[in-house]
Amino acid sequence: MTAASGAADRLRHLQAQLPPHTRLLAVSKGQSAEAMRTLAELGQRSFGESRLQEASLKQEALADLGPLDWHFIGHLQANKVRPVLQRFGTLHSVDSLPLAQRTARIAAEEGVAPQVLLQVKLRDDPSKGGFSREGLLEAWPQLQALEPLRITGLMTMAPLGLGPEQREELFGECAALARDLGLSELSMGMSGDWSEAARAGSTWVRIGSALFGSRT
Ligand SMILES: *Cc1c(COP(=O)(O)O)cnc(C)c1O
Repeated sequence: MTAASGAADRLRHLQAQLPPHTRLLAVSKGQSAEAMRTLAELGQRSFGESRLQEASLKQEALADLGPLDWHFIGHLQANKVRPVLQRFGTLHSVDSLPLAQRTARIAAEEGVAPQVLLQVKLRDDPSKGGFSREGLLEAWPQLQALEPLRITGLMTMAPLGLGPEQREELFGECAALARDLGLSELSMGMSGDWSEAARAGSTWVRIGSALFGSRT
């Protein structure tokens, strides 16, 4: 079996298992442009990248495929906001009010209206950023007013070490928070926990290694 046919089989298999409300974001960081091309030709048009330079090279290499749907999922550094906005239509990792304000200001300068998912952190996890529940509720009136951002949802990651039931509970809390705020998109679930996230209502599962195989 070639690498390409393996990825194609995994794509079909995953798509068959996802519930209707859950879309697949193919996380292509650490994967080749050729592997992405194989999936794009099978109809997988949404890709998640976390490093700007790597993503830029692949966007150039795949330009002949026509417009693809690029999502930025990595830690968003303040000094990278402008080039990220120039290359990605959706940002999953806006994790503070100052970063959201900066993103809005630069988006207005660039004449773009990015879709934004706010990253939340509902459990202690020193390795990750994100709004706490209280922090998000407090900042919400200001966040909502940030034109031209289109804030459509929340993104979260489960800390390592949780079992499946605890993960599903966490994803359920994130879904309830999004509902309370009137947000429809939920970016939750990766290779190891997408099924719990999908059950909890995820609308975007971000899957890398279970789709492409291990990263280089
Ligand atoms: C790398 C990454 C993923 C995908 O991870 P896999 O375990 O390979 O599916 C999902 N979300 C974020 C934010 C990532 O950085």
